[in-house]
Amino acid sequence: MNSDGRLLLRGGIVLTMDETLGDHERGDVLIEDGKIVEVGQDLQADAQVLDCAGKIVLPGFVNSHHHMFQTALRSYWADATDLDYFMQSRTGADALFHQYTPEDVYWGQFGGALENLAAGTTTVVDTSQCSYTPEHTDAALEGIRRSGIRCVFSFSPSLGDHEPDPSYAHPEDIHRLIDKAGAVDDGTLVRLALGYHIDEDLFALARDLALPVFAHVNEASWGYVLEEFEKEGLLGPWITYIHCLGIGDPAWRAIERTGGKVSISTSAEQSLTMGQPALQTALEHGVPTSFGTDTVGIAPVDFFSQMRAAFYWQRSRIQTAMQNDSPTVQPISVRDILRMATLGGAQGAHLDHLVGSLTPGKRADVITLNARTLNAGPVNHAAGAIVQHMDTSNVDTVIVDGRIVKRDGHLLDVDVEAVLQELERSASGLISRSRATDILFTGCRHLS
Ligand SMILES: [Zn+2]
Repeated sequence: MNSDGRLLLRGGIVLTMDETLGDHERGDVLIEDGKIVEVGQDLQADAQVLDCAGKIVLPGFVNSHHHMFQTALRSYWADATDLDYFMQSRTGADALFHQYTPEDVYWGQFGGALENLAAGTTTVVDTSQCSYTPEHTDAALEGIRRSGIRCVFSFSPSLGDHEPDPSYAHPEDIHRLIDKAGAVDDGTLVRLALGYHIDEDLFALARDLALPVFAHVNEASWGYVLEEFEKEGLLGPWITYIHCLGIGDPAWRAIERTGGKVSISTSAEQSLTMGQPALQTALEHGVPTSFGTDTVGIAPVDFFSQMRAAFYWQRSRIQTAMQNDSPTVQPISVRDILRMATLGGAQGAHLDHLVGSLTPGKRADVITLNARTLNAGPVNHAAGAIVQHMDTSNVDTVIVDGRIVKRDGHLLDVDVEAVLQELERSASGLISRSRATDILFTGCRHLS
């Protein structure tokens, strides 16, 4: 089907993630011109029909924080702590990130986007961080666009103590990117944003350009800066705060008052020993909460892993709180987690007017999950089957903006073997150029 046609998903268990529409034990979803036009039972339409019997139909997952350029470095920091990661990735001339060519960036972005699509993630906020030159940035965007994923490209500076190309400027180059991207409408798959840590000039530019901001907040001191920024009118609902580790209550209240969003990377934060994920604090402040996977160098990208890491982390925290006579907190539910992975993610990506639920009028980013499998059936609780039992092998069909990109468990029009070969070539080049095997390994196992 092309995006001008009609597509009817028939007879699936439909979780709309729209509180008004609710769920259908056996329902249909009609898609036309890239949009969801109707959700109900026994819909009649002249359309291509996908039989969804035995499948769960829901919005695609939305990943609100991911550095896709690192795809070739998968598991490189599997055992690392945060000091290992920050030192080896960006400190000193031999650091791995400084070895990236535009071609490495391209294959990382393309391979990373395909990995997300294959896993049922239809939107990614790519928090970039490999823009050493305009060519690096352009290569990143080219890889994203080729994949067909919906993406918010959060243009960010390259990080570390390297000498950047003197002709390159962050964030000023955003003007060139905006000019090059052209007009934005509802069907625009790749959108621009700005990204970094907490930075006054960047926040002011984003506000003036009406662009979203994705800001890493990794330590307590940045919380104090947020309080100051609120007084200066620099905070607003267009900002998504990543991690939010260790910040105090006043900073959380500033985020809450100004309508900010939060992206939590439960897997990466625990794996890197960065701090305790702030899920409970975000819930207490009523801040829209989403999940980001950060990087495959540290943690998995699929949302089944992400949802489980968050669910069990939060349940274990509540159990501890109840033991300590703090009965006001309630155990999180699998439905809460699934909402954060879909509609919450869309809020975190600043795209909830377009995606995140199967609401008629929204763009058709839809996935179907095969539940006629030994790891999912019988389906007594659909959200429970997804959050607690399924994995990427259950992802049957993936639709982005009305276009089928995965069907019967296979990505369409993608030579996976060729992509893997390019990523392997990129990985061996990056590692050999960095000579990073000689520095600061405290337990990291890598490719040598
Ligand atoms: Zn990050």
